[in-house]
Amino acid sequence: MGDLLLRRGVVDGRRRDVAIRDGRIRRLGVDLDPTGYDALDVTDKLVLPGFVESHIHPDKAFIADRTEGLRAGGPSAQTLVAELKKTFTVDDIYRRARRVMELAVRHGCTTMRAHVEVDAYVELRGVEALRRLQVELAGVLDLRLIAFAQEGIFRDGVTQDLLREALKAGLAVLGGCPSMDRDQPRHIDWFFDTAQDFGVPLDFHADSADDPAMLVSDYIAEQTIIRGMQGRVTVGHLGTLDVLTPDHRARVIDKLREAGLHVISLPATELHVKGRGDDRRTWRGVTRIAELRAAGINVALSTNNIVNPFTPYGHPDLLRQALVAAMAAHLGNLEQMAWLLELVTTNPARAVGLEDYGLREGCRADLVVLDAHDPAQAITEQAEKLYVIKGGVLVARNTRTSEVRTPR
Ligand SMILES: [Zn+2]
Repeated sequence: MGDLLLRRGVVDGRRRDVAIRDGRIRRLGVDLDPTGYDALDVTDKLVLPGFVESHIHPDKAFIADRTEGLRAGGPSAQTLVAELKKTFTVDDIYRRARRVMELAVRHGCTTMRAHVEVDAYVELRGVEALRRLQVELAGVLDLRLIAFAQEGIFRDGVTQDLLREALKAGLAVLGGCPSMDRDQPRHIDWFFDTAQDFGVPLDFHADSADDPAMLVSDYIAEQTIIRGMQGRVTVGHLGTLDVLTPDHRARVIDKLREAGLHVISLPATELHVKGRGDDRRTWRGVTRIAELRAAGINVALSTNNIVNPFTPYGHPDLLRQALVAAMAAHLGNLEQMAWLLELVTTNPARAVGLEDYGLREGCRADLVVLDAHDPAQAITEQAEKLYVIKGGVLVARNTRTSEVRTPR
């Protein structure tokens, strides 16, 4: 297959052709000359830049059948997974992670930034498996890896060294999880120090508790400013914002904006895990997506967990996350549904630092074509991803057939 011409798709609300040459969008326009192109008729179908999965855990995916899962009074998801992790081999991680990535591509994802756990239980086995996939899937999925300390860094004598080794092995981002250590500020300080030593950006799992006293995103924002790392620090979860008073929340949001933090909401996991000890009012744990966005903060949505105790029904489909977020965070009106898809495309692209991303001439031709004419229909109907294009190459094609017989 040669260069592609997408004909009569919906681009930014208007019917246009997209001509792709040498892996990039060469022209956008009406009735472009098809000579020399392989034309795809996408009349009135929504064309978007490829979905960007900015926070996901392929190394601990597809393990729900190895454990009992969450139940009232039972062990936490962290405890259940930590136990299983000891048994993970490189091949086991490789096979499960590969399945996640193939599904993600099928669902329109062209770039994925994945957390890879590095600790005393799994050591560097996840790093080895994911590095292999990074090479094998080049050209199909742009895979970026975060050396992630899910188990904290002060609970054993090896994790700090293993994280440094993972960065030396080429992982390009460092990820912390302050709530796993008793002294959260000290944990955060270590990550800033190490990130500065290696010149890498940071990504924290932060503020997933329902206790306002546990709040750390304000401290992360302060450190980001002090160390001049604005725009290079991301925080996932941020559910604690939802239990602050409106005044306190506004002050914290202001600081996050000043620090240029990127925020990633993970609604599916929050809805499964949070509020389980509360028999009066169930806290749902999802962060304040609309308020963060209104304050000018770069907000993204991501899938997080796939078929494990944290999210047994997790599936790497960002269109699904857009619907979950719409339901969880009161984002159902047409104006909100119109911008929700930015939270799985351009916003995460900014968070992970993608260059030449988008629907403009000269950008990389990473695209998804949906069987819908606008974002609201795409979200509501969970439209099929008809074509997924990576660097100008068709990497997935999906069809859905149905037959409804109504009386005449
Ligand atoms: Zn996570």
